Amino acid sequence: MNIKVEKNVLLSAHTTLKVGGVADFFVQVDSVEELVEALQFASENNETPLILGGGSNILASDEGFCGLIIKNCIKGLSYTVHGDNVYLYCGSGEVLDEVVADAVSKNYWGLENLSSIPGTVGATPVQNVGAYGVEVSSLITEVSAINSETKEIKNFSNKECDFSYRDSFFKTSEGKKWMITEVVFKLSLIKKPQLDYGTLKTLETLGAVSIDDIRNEIIKIRSVKFPNWHKVGTAGSFFKNPVVSKEVFSDLQAKFPGIQGYPAGETMTKIPLGWVLDNVCNLRGFCMDGVCLYREQALVLVNESAKDAKVIEKFANYVAEVVKEKTGINIEREVTSV
Ligand SMILES: Cc1cc2nc3c(=O)[nH]c(=O)nc-3n(C[C@H](O)[C@H](O)[C@H](O)COP(=O)(O)OP(=O)(O)OC[C@H]3O[C@@H](n4cnc5c(N)ncnc54)[C@H](O)[C@@H]3O)c2cc1C
Repeated sequence: MNIKVEKNVLLSAHTTLKVGGVADFFVQVDSVEELVEALQFASENNETPLILGGGSNILASDEGFCGLIIKNCIKGLSYTVHGDNVYLYCGSGEVLDEVVADAVSKNYWGLENLSSIPGTVGATPVQNVGAYGVEVSSLITEVSAINSETKEIKNFSNKECDFSYRDSFFKTSEGKKWMITEVVFKLSLIKKPQLDYGTLKTLETLGAVSIDDIRNEIIKIRSVKFPNWHKVGTAGSFFKNPVVSKEVFSDLQAKFPGIQGYPAGETMTKIPLGWVLDNVCNLRGFCMDGVCLYREQALVLVNESAKDAKVIEKFANYVAEVVKEKTGINIEREVTSV
């Protein structure tokens, strides 16, 4: 066996929210072969396996994890060019922002709007990671994964991933059995700036915009909108932006002039929750027991000093209750509880 299984590892050291109790077993895997070995270990010892990337979208409970945490470090990055298209084959344990930086440095268009998002490539299909008008679902052509129960290896087409807003097949009970080993992105040699989103529009006024301009601007915007996750606890946006019917949105518009909405399919409207938390609930900057909604962007939860996940749970439940009381909307968490 090449893998080194550790016992009793604190999850707070492996999640960006900086909370979480002890995992019974913990192993780092650097290759698909090691992942298979780890799964073998789990089945032989009757332990539930759970794959972890950068831990940047997880709320790990104080009780810890009864099973085997598999820390994914499967690397590998290669490109093939076909006409104007560039296919990027990426090991699932690659750090997303390093991959984005590499593609940008080669002038391959597609991933630049996803600059500066923490975590690994393998987690991006799970919640269909997105930012500044781009979701990975628009770029992914194939996802390779291994079934943690049967050890079957399968390539999922984009359609089979069943992507929607912050959601995919990999979040379903069947999908959770699959551990992603490689993601294929289709990038482009043709310049395709996506500047429709919010403050990015101002870049258009500069005239010829380069792929570096876009990455640099997004890094700049994000350095204000998000706290430094190396220093304080955060998982970025803790809740999803709610998606409501057009009728519900009209009622909300009548009640709260100024509320914004973006089309989400034919009949639904997506509402920026940050605006609601700020302007309707008056919760921007609100703190309780060392947990706060970030001053610069109310959708972002910041763990300034809480040591326990239950403190974050209590805070998040309170925020959800206030939103429900003021708007009637049930908000959902973006962060996965483990
Ligand atoms: C400051 C900050 C800003 C953020 N901004 C954004 C943003 O703009 N847009 C956005 O969408 N997200 C954002 N996020 C959330 C987070 O970065 C993404 O969801 C990221 O993709 C999580 O990657 P990870 O490797 O840390 O996943 P983890 O947190 O380790 O895991 C998340 C979930 O995915 C599963 N998983 C992880 N790897 C695999 C795999 N290989 N196969 C199968 N399942 C897997 C885990 O089991 C878990 O359920 C932000 C987070 C922070 C802290």
